[in-house]
Amino acid sequence: MLPVIALIGRPNVGKSTLFNRLTRTRAALVADLPGLTRDRQYGIGRLGSRPYVVVDTGGIGTTPSGIETLMERQVQRAIDEADHLLFLVDARVGCTPEDLALAQRLRRLGKPLTLAVNKSDIGNPSILSADFHQLGLGEPWTISATQGMGVHDLIEQVLEHL
Ligand code: GDP
Ligand code: MG
Repeated sequence: MLPVIALIGRPNVGKSTLFNRLTRTRAALVADLPGLTRDRQYGIGRLGSRPYVVVDTGGIGTTPSGIETLMERQVQRAIDEADHLLFLVDARVGCTPEDLALAQRLRRLGKPLTLAVNKSDIGNPSILSADFHQLGLGEPWTISATQGMGVHDLIEQVLEHL
């Protein structure tokens, strides 16, 4: 069975953008097929040295942000199924109370976890990531899902630990 990587994070941090970048071939194919929902939750990862499954916990974006939203059953199921959690935060917004609450909860699970500061294209990555040290998850990876910056290195590091 392929290893499963779940994208976790508040609405709007860039989970679906990263999902599309990681799964690009399949995602493009899906988008081209009429009648199929574009709201795909699972995809085969293409970026990186071996295949994997990516889960986009996209459904949580339809209700107001907050930790209750993040705890929805769907997200919990994605977390349960995952071999590795990719926790995304937003460099443009900085560290929020929801990020802190989510970090605390994710840390308690004891699952392999990688923190990535997305949207790092908007400024100096090391300055942008500094705010997220308070999450207590170590030095974050800085990435840009839209531009691709750092995404390959990030996924290779995750695959190494699967
Ligand atoms: P999700 O709710 O976590 O799935 O977030 P989306 O993938 O839908 O992205 C939310 C918004 O952030 C969209 O307008 C994206 O274009 C934007 N976004 C996502 N990734 C990046 C990035 O790396 N840099 C910048 N500047 N914007 C991004
Ligand atoms: Mg989404």
